[in-house]
Amino acid sequence: MPAAYQIHEHTFDMVVVGAGGAGLRATFGLAQKGLKTACISKVFPTRSHTVAAQGGVAAALANMGEDDWRYHFFDTVKGSDWLGDQDAIEYMCREAIPAIIELEHYGVPFSRTEDGRIYQRPFGGMTTRFGEGPPAQRTCAAADRTGHAILHTLYQQSLAHDAQFFIEYFALDLIMDADGACRGVLALDMAEGTLHLFKAQGTVLATGGYGRAYFSATSAHTCTGDGGGMALRAGLALQDMEFVQFHPTGIYGAGCLITEGVRGEGGILRNAQGERFMERYAPSVKDLAPRDMVSRAMTMEVREGRGVGEHKDHILLDLTHLGPEVIHEKLPGIAESARIFANVDVEKQPIPVIPTVHYNMGGIPTNYHGEVVQLRNGNPDAVVPGLYAIGEAACVSVHGANRLGSNSLLDLVVFGRAVANRAAETVKVDGKHAKLAGDACDEALARLDKLRNANGGTPTSVIRDKMQRTMQADAAVFRTGETLADGVRKMREIHASFQDVRVSDRSLIWNSDLVETYEVSNLLGQALATIVSAENRTESRGAHAREDFPERDDASWMKHTLCAVDDAGNTAIDYRPVHMYTLSDDVGVVPPKKRVY
Ligand SMILES: Cc1cc2nc3c(=O)[nH]c(=O)nc-3n(C[C@H](O)[C@H](O)[C@H](O)COP(=O)(O)OP(=O)(O)OC[C@H]3O[C@@H](n4cnc5c(N)ncnc54)[C@H](O)[C@@H]3O)c2cc1C
Repeated sequence: MPAAYQIHEHTFDMVVVGAGGAGLRATFGLAQKGLKTACISKVFPTRSHTVAAQGGVAAALANMGEDDWRYHFFDTVKGSDWLGDQDAIEYMCREAIPAIIELEHYGVPFSRTEDGRIYQRPFGGMTTRFGEGPPAQRTCAAADRTGHAILHTLYQQSLAHDAQFFIEYFALDLIMDADGACRGVLALDMAEGTLHLFKAQGTVLATGGYGRAYFSATSAHTCTGDGGGMALRAGLALQDMEFVQFHPTGIYGAGCLITEGVRGEGGILRNAQGERFMERYAPSVKDLAPRDMVSRAMTMEVREGRGVGEHKDHILLDLTHLGPEVIHEKLPGIAESARIFANVDVEKQPIPVIPTVHYNMGGIPTNYHGEVVQLRNGNPDAVVPGLYAIGEAACVSVHGANRLGSNSLLDLVVFGRAVANRAAETVKVDGKHAKLAGDACDEALARLDKLRNANGGTPTSVIRDKMQRTMQADAAVFRTGETLADGVRKMREIHASFQDVRVSDRSLIWNSDLVETYEVSNLLGQALATIVSAENRTESRGAHAREDFPERDDASWMKHTLCAVDDAGNTAIDYRPVHMYTLSDDVGVVPPKKRVY
């Protein structure tokens, strides 16, 4: 072990890594249960990506028309293209209602109806009467700044409870013991350059998605999937990584998001001929089809020569007919983003848009309590002691092969709360920690020392750029065996090139070069898992659209992919069954059928 490093030790009942919606909901929930809780975050909590969420959060409150959580359950199973675990989906859709009322009581300033209830807008794939009725108005919104409203409220609640925050601390690696249990996490205080070991009975990864594995993404630059990277290094497999959601309406060129709420409020997609082409692809729900379908339809329009602009390579989102009142009241942030990033006045001109990487359905596999699970000795649901994952970092799996819009903010609060409830049952307050082996941190420290002194020939930024371009080109909206095989070969080379990385700053204080190098290495493992899992899955399901295998194949592929990646870049694939059962008799299993809207 490199002797030079001194480690500050902290002992908690629970440590949460991440202070986005999921991490904060878990943090104050745990503190509320009387558990001594730490929350570590690499950015100030209210700068987490959750702040950027616009459209809203789903719950069948029925404030604005007929609705039922069972309809929400049905829509989510269908939206997942039957890859979601139905027990977890039942849990989420039923718990949605108390979870949102709770948020309201915590102080989230939701938009209101005339009679003072929470305002709800239509969103893609949300219907009534088990898909037979009209679209549901289910997505609770605070104008087009719902994530901002939720994140700030959750942070305030966290301050009201007795949790301890470690802000601008970067988690480096999980500390696992010889029995495979997680015993805590090693982190770097970026400002001071000091190392901190957080020993805990439970460690919760709430580190968000890995959108930055791609060149053009709506996610923040901080969305580097650090939790998934740490899990891979701890020898754990990630689940369903081939399923990457492209949001239909990223601003062309800039990549920033125009919420689906725009179409919920009546916005329309048009091709070069001014045609509302979604009528041809999804005759009943049109522009409010789920994201995977709309992204494919847009890509088809561009391919067939009906794209707009000089290069005929994008599509227009038209909201000129909505009128200034709706725009000012319901979509003020969108009007601003369109003005700044596309130089468009949305009252007079359509917004140029293109499908853009937005969300990772895959992640660290968990059960509906938020406990991390792995396939062990034939048991597909074996719990990894002491380790939890929630939010976009996790794969519960409630989103399966395709997430419905507004179900992610929901998943953050429902499973953030679930972890707190579970830990309250299983973790002893101020319980005795088993002694940690003297060399428990050696591997993590050796890695830190190696990266800090990395003296190769390739700067981190060059490796990152190659990875992002390869993923963008070869693991896109449409995929074929050929491009995937080529992409896998390139990603293996890029992963291997990390051995030759160069870090030029040798200090530990505000060493952004070192931190970015950790982030890129976390992204590399997940990019490789994504493209290897995509090549392996020879069917089309949800967001994974294979041109060479255009049909869904339930007989062979109604199963979750598990993919492990070791330091050398070797990948190993396995599977877990999809949970085709519910928790109660209040709702029946939705049997698979063709997914049409
Ligand atoms: C532009 C945009 C709009 C969206 N709109 C909606 C919407 O309207 N409705 C909806 O349901 N979903 C929406 N989504 C999706 C949803 O917002 C995200 O999936 C969700 O916010 C992720 O939350 P999270 O808590 O998992 O992670 P994040 O909010 O990304 O937070 C991650 C946290 O982990 C911390 N962290 C990460 N790595 C480390 C490390 N190594 N050490 C220490 N801390 C670390 C960060 O500091 C941060 O606090 C949107 C997403 C985007 C990008």
